Amino acid sequence: MYKCALCSVLACKEESPERIPKNCPMKTDTLIEDCFSEYETAENKEFYIKSSEIEAAGYCEWPRIREIIEFSKSMNYKKIGIAFCLGLRSEAKIVDRLLTAAGLEAISVICKTGAIPKERIGIPDEHKVRPGTFESMCNPIAQAKLLNEQKTDFNVVVGLCVGHDSMFYKYSEAMVTTLLAKDRVLAHNPAGALYCSEGYFKDKITVNE
Ligand code: SF4
Repeated sequence: MYKCALCSVLACKEESPERIPKNCPMKTDTLIEDCFSEYETAENKEFYIKSSEIEAAGYCEWPRIREIIEFSKSMNYKKIGIAFCLGLRSEAKIVDRLLTAAGLEAISVICKTGAIPKERIGIPDEHKVRPGTFESMCNPIAQAKLLNEQKTDFNVVVGLCVGHDSMFYKYSEAMVTTLLAKDRVLAHNPAGALYCSEGYFKDKITVNE
């Protein structure tokens, strides 16, 4: 079982194979070599190199939205899809403005597209956010397919729900990056709960067996 999250050796960030710990995933060298050959494919190589160059070019200078724009331009992308949540439409509007100002074509699709009632997919009234009212289901598959139909070069997620975002990633034909990870409690800063995990947020985030 791999436990990189608990490792303090970090032999992987330097050239010191003699320090590799016992349960280190680097011992599965065939798998790692197989993965390396994936980076060499036409589909992945430029994408990977450009994203690494952007990491360095704006290191600790560019906020993530700037990195997304710079990356899109360096890849010579034209059409950028925005898959956003109803609750973040103001933010999506700003993303549209910034992409357009940079000379990119912004195409956006909201999560509620389709206006399909939650009951139709099998969500009972008592499990809706506001029982007794009409609620459209979030529709990440349609968001992905609508952006596929528009032939976007790259898609940006702006605050899709946990799980709905996973389905969007699954069905998007273009590569996807996440600008905002939705966290309704922490102003979309999910790391905040981790920073306070031993303090004010302990009771809010601990789930026992
Ligand atoms: S890859 Fe190996 S050295 Fe690096 S964090 Fe994981 S266990 Fe530690």
